[in-house]
Amino acid sequence: MIVSKQKDLDDILKKIRGSVFIFGCGICSDTSRTGGLKEVEAMKRILADENIAVEGTYVIDAMCHLQKVRKAARDNKESLSKSQTVLVLSCGSGVQSAVMALPAHIKVVSGVDTMFLGNIENLSSLKEMCSLCGNCVLNETGGICPVTLCPKGLLNGPCGGMKNYKCEIDENMDCAWVKIYERSVVQNTLEDIKKTAKPKDYSVKKPAATLKFTGSHK
Ligand code: SF4
Ligand code: SF4
Repeated sequence: MIVSKQKDLDDILKKIRGSVFIFGCGICSDTSRTGGLKEVEAMKRILADENIAVEGTYVIDAMCHLQKVRKAARDNKESLSKSQTVLVLSCGSGVQSAVMALPAHIKVVSGVDTMFLGNIENLSSLKEMCSLCGNCVLNETGGICPVTLCPKGLLNGPCGGMKNYKCEIDENMDCAWVKIYERSVVQNTLEDIKKTAKPKDYSVKKPAATLKFTGSHK
């Protein structure tokens, strides 16, 4: 899921003009506690306290789903026609769904900062495990990501700073390369990490990626 955090409230208020419609996201923003039903209602109350009219609210199950955002825009056409600003409490992808789905004269304001792709450890803990590098090395590193879990993103490790199996950047954190080594021993795949990894091809990340499917989807 995409992890987000709410922007500073004053920064949000500075960007709002006229009356507002609020969109939330019922999946990632709900889990991040930034844009589910509860947070949308809380934002509505905050705006009301600031004497800002809220014409309507709507929580879409996935703001990144452009077709769903377009449908929500049709279903809320009347409220949206009275709104000068649409405040979106979702990741940057969801904000841009609103930009694409709504008429250009409506100002779309982002209410959250998009942080990272996170694993849900439990409902109080979201952990970054993958940085979406577009050129996955997990098959060579025992299924543990050095790009994300080593602060230096080293593809050949550990570095000379590793001490007592801990990372030199944070002594409370296990060195990612120690974990990779330990798992490779258990998996009997040490040969994989004995090879010197080539520099990573980051060109696959540029320009902004699109993945198109061919054939039908069942
Ligand atoms: S190498 Fe790491 S950052 Fe890259 S795709 Fe694989 S898990 Fe994600
Ligand atoms: S100690 Fe390990 S995790 Fe930390 S920067 Fe060095 S190789 Fe990466």
